[in-house]
Amino acid sequence: MFSKILIANRGEIACRIMRTCDRLGVRTVAVFSDADAGAQHVAMAGEAVRIGPPAPAESYLRGDAIIEAALSTGAEAIHPGYGFLSENPDFVEAVEAAGLVFIGPSAKAIRAMGLKDAAKEVMEKAGVPVVPDYRGADQDAERLEEAAEVVGYPVLIKAVAGGGGKGMRLVERAEDFAEALEACRSEAAKAFGNDRVLVEKFIEQPRHIEVQVFGDGARAVHLYERDCSLQRRHQKVIEEAPAPGMTEEVREAMTGAAVRAAEAIGYAGAGTVEFIVDGSGPLRPDGFWFMEMNTRLQVEHPVTEAVTGVDLVEWQLRVASGEVMPDVPPLTGHAVEARLYAEDVPAGFLPATGRLDHLAFPDAIRADSGVRTGDEISPHYDPMIAKVIAHGETRAQALARLERGLSETQVVGTVTNLGFLRRLVRHEDFAAARLDTGLIDRHLETLAVENVPCSRSRSLAIVGAAMQGGMPDFAGFALWAPLERRIDLIWRDEEIEGRLAVLGRDRFEVRIEDARHEIERRQERWFVDGQQVPATVLMVDPWVTVLWGASYGFRIPDPLARGGAEAALGTVEAPMPGLVKAVYVEAGAEVAEGDRLAVLEAMKMEHVLKAGRAGRVAEVLAKAGDQVTAGAPLVRLEDEEQ
Ligand code: ADP
Repeated sequence: MFSKILIANRGEIACRIMRTCDRLGVRTVAVFSDADAGAQHVAMAGEAVRIGPPAPAESYLRGDAIIEAALSTGAEAIHPGYGFLSENPDFVEAVEAAGLVFIGPSAKAIRAMGLKDAAKEVMEKAGVPVVPDYRGADQDAERLEEAAEVVGYPVLIKAVAGGGGKGMRLVERAEDFAEALEACRSEAAKAFGNDRVLVEKFIEQPRHIEVQVFGDGARAVHLYERDCSLQRRHQKVIEEAPAPGMTEEVREAMTGAAVRAAEAIGYAGAGTVEFIVDGSGPLRPDGFWFMEMNTRLQVEHPVTEAVTGVDLVEWQLRVASGEVMPDVPPLTGHAVEARLYAEDVPAGFLPATGRLDHLAFPDAIRADSGVRTGDEISPHYDPMIAKVIAHGETRAQALARLERGLSETQVVGTVTNLGFLRRLVRHEDFAAARLDTGLIDRHLETLAVENVPCSRSRSLAIVGAAMQGGMPDFAGFALWAPLERRIDLIWRDEEIEGRLAVLGRDRFEVRIEDARHEIERRQERWFVDGQQVPATVLMVDPWVTVLWGASYGFRIPDPLARGGAEAALGTVEAPMPGLVKAVYVEAGAEVAEGDRLAVLEAMKMEHVLKAGRAGRVAEVLAKAGDQVTAGAPLVRLEDEEQ
């Protein structure tokens, strides 16, 4: 076994590799860009080396800097993770030329699978079924269009160098071919520097099933299959193992083909052979075709680990360091993984950035993450927050555990796809294993809807906001209980105007427009209108997040911005906890809009509180020297004449 390795990656996969290294006693070296100086993978590593500015091309894709870091720290091997340099044969050669071990396949094996057309060629020779296509060298537009006619519509035009769902166009009718070809070529040229395409039969109602293989350079084995049919824009969203409806006969055919594929190229390490499968009926031994091979660890490898008990990273390290390949254990139970992203689903799955003010996962579930509370979701990299993985004896149990795990996942500070994932896990077609790659798109309208918080969730948030504002001192609060206090919150772009009155210890009445609810907090539980509810209220300044059926993030408006509205109401409140330095008015005084009423010292600054409107002072509720909580009323004006 190695004594020290360098991990040429970041985020969750870097952390996941380090966890195995720690368990095996292998020391670790991290590399990082300037954007990641404080990242979790850096904190976890034994040593860390800066390799450049945030842009991947200047850091995580800089093979030379990474090899230099490995040499200078005395690492013996480099684990590439997935993405970045993991499937770059030139990098593999450079690593080996530097006298280091690349934890993965040979440059030759990666090259054999690097381009989709060449890969299909190799597979066909190895007796693996491939999707019917045209993959000729003649890339003339007319020739390609003729080929599409022969292959038969609908067809997919695929960039041979494509990956990650990019550089692909579905064409249903001949008249659309020329335009789609043009679009695909220009996208491919830009993204991959190679505009060669192949024209492939589009398999209708397809499922995506892939086989996890493992090789030692001569012999290969398989660790069963994964079903990754739940996709959006050709990208995986939820993955599971085993594939629903898999029979022994079909498994033998598919895994046999995958092992042949791996052995045909002398594969070493973990790899995945992806098949497109006819999903229009039960699985058939003649109903699957090779699509491509990923010559690295996949994002979704944990579901295979969950059903086999194998640590695939450990296998990678063992085989790369020259140990013999371990035996494959039997498959037990069922596992599902969901990819949690910082993205705005109702806005069209827009990637989101921001600070994770709070992040927590339930203990009962595996969550592979590369970020912690306080970390930023950087715009430079993939906005994945975590992978949440559940295992059960049956598929139904695994799904139920995943749904529960997602419901107890707490993310504050950024929007996420949590609600979308939960709806997907509960979707009746998915639950019944009626899968195909079009499932998400067909049901997008119901899956991507926004959960709108009801007045009960909003009322909980109002109470949460009051507590956040330093109100645990309810005894003091109760002194002026008859006064209704106004608390504003913002949910997405909507302003919520709440009115809160204290009824007793930890008991409140909240009014929001026409709704009125009694909220009580008793022994860490929430009660709404006398009923205990399964809600969690997280108070992480400036957010109040209510987890109840969904995750609703309410923002507390900037306390200083709040003054205006409060003042207009007629009561000037302390915008934050602080010390009253001065009060300039007395009861009965006439004030004009903008007159100074009081000064509050808070957060090492003095805040002048002004009248939001003209009027007569009805009451002065604080005096210089008073320590007040946020929201404490300081000066009340007489009601305006109607
Ligand atoms: P990439 O390399 O970009 O990941 P793949 O070739 O692996 O591209 O295909 C990605 C996804 O596109 C597949 O999982 C599948 O959903 C869909 N797809 C690819 N080829 C076909 C095909 N011939 N027919 C139908 N769907 C396909």
